Amino acid sequence: MATEERVIKPHKNIDVENALNVVRPTLGNNAGVALYRLLRLVALEDIIGRGASGAAYLAGKKLGVSLGLTKLEDFLQLCKDLNIGIIEVPVATETKVHVDVYECVTCSGLEAVGRPICHFEGGLIAGAVQTITGRSARAREVTCIGGLGDKTCGFDIEIG
Ligand SMILES: [Zn+2]
Repeated sequence: MATEERVIKPHKNIDVENALNVVRPTLGNNAGVALYRLLRLVALEDIIGRGASGAAYLAGKKLGVSLGLTKLEDFLQLCKDLNIGIIEVPVATETKVHVDVYECVTCSGLEAVGRPICHFEGGLIAGAVQTITGRSARAREVTCIGGLGDKTCGFDIEIG
């Protein structure tokens, strides 16, 4: 194997923009749901424990905010592009939004574990709503397919 001269760069944090630089000419942007779930639900919870849900929420929110979306349609398109789930928004008022996610990437098919577990999605939705409305937003998962045995992962978003 040929070795090339490589410039050693100082360590720095990996931000969202950098993480989303996907260069995989053969395999593209898609990977299995299993890979994501093992990292998110098994590894992260094993290592961080209960704090994993907060970390996942913050990661989702950071991503949601960094996307700088301005329209609800753009958010729905993003969810479609990322295959997060099938999204419906039955309630969207000035102060409250409800989002239902069918076939959730994180939990659909799991044997119920007695608690909502889709904190990453909640954070992502809150972050997107925050940039779309220009006001602070907080999401709470009130139903969960794999966590609680519901039909959807449902998120109540409070807009401040
Ligand atoms: Zn869920």
